[in-house]
Amino acid sequence: MVLDDLGSSLRGTLDKLRGKSRLSEEDIEEIVKEIQRSLLSADVDVSLVMELSDNIKERALEEEPPAGTPARDFVLRIVYEELVDLIGDSTELPLEEQTILLAGLQGSGKTTSAAKMAWWFSTKGLRPAVIQTDTFRPGAYDQAEEMAERAEVDFYGDPDSEDPVEIAREGLEETSDADVHIVDTAGRHALEDDLIAEIEEIEDVVDPDTSLLVLDAAIGQGAKDQAQQFDESIGIDGVVITKLDGTAKGGGALTAVDQTDSSIAFLGTGEEVQDVERFEPDGFISRLLG
Ligand code: GDP
Repeated sequence: MVLDDLGSSLRGTLDKLRGKSRLSEEDIEEIVKEIQRSLLSADVDVSLVMELSDNIKERALEEEPPAGTPARDFVLRIVYEELVDLIGDSTELPLEEQTILLAGLQGSGKTTSAAKMAWWFSTKGLRPAVIQTDTFRPGAYDQAEEMAERAEVDFYGDPDSEDPVEIAREGLEETSDADVHIVDTAGRHALEDDLIAEIEEIEDVVDPDTSLLVLDAAIGQGAKDQAQQFDESIGIDGVVITKLDGTAKGGGALTAVDQTDSSIAFLGTGEEVQDVERFEPDGFISRLLG
């Protein structure tokens, strides 16, 4: 079963259904309540949780379980399908020449993710380069250079320049031997007009195939505004959720996925360049409900 790694209270509720072939309305209510509790404590937005609950309830009540299917399996299947519907498959990233632009607030994990993703592409036999355009955060250049070294990938940045757009342009030229270009951008502490203007200009020059929004797993309500702003300015194709090695389950990032009508591309699970996973729904869903 896909969802075999469930939290204990949800598993307890579902175990009560063992041996039953039909679900009562109370059974469904109880299960949906447990799921709501799990998702809300994983920071999933209330309105998303409500929408999901309604869909699960409606389907569990209206659909006929296929003959011979135990009620427990039937309802688990519905829960899983509805969650997959909400979360989606991982963002499509072909293993070929491409340019990826990273956006996000300061501290979200962009620079780390750029190196991690470059490392990941290198394990697939491609030649990635990281281009560091963050002239705003002191230390961003050194950090990016060091991480690119650890990932053993090409790197371009210019610690003496204050012009991120020019760095992006030069960077693409200087790393033309690489086939995957990952362009890191500066963040800010909050969404500010100059940040948005800057990333729009970089996007113009870079013309990325994919723009990814990097979000800390602990993000809550803030995800919506960020997703909306970045989506309006550069168009967001996918989300990277970082710091999943901490206690946060990353449910807040689902708001961004929903808001941008996109999907999740990568998960960050530590501070090292190898601490990265391509997103896959099963593990993430188990974790959300766990
Ligand atoms: P940026 O400002 O968006 O470029 O963020 P950074 O890449 O500099 O990351 C901010 C901090 O978060 C740094 O101390 C990173 O080491 C840390 N960090 C980034 N990703 C992860 C992760 O997946 N797990 C953990 N534990 N720390 C991370």
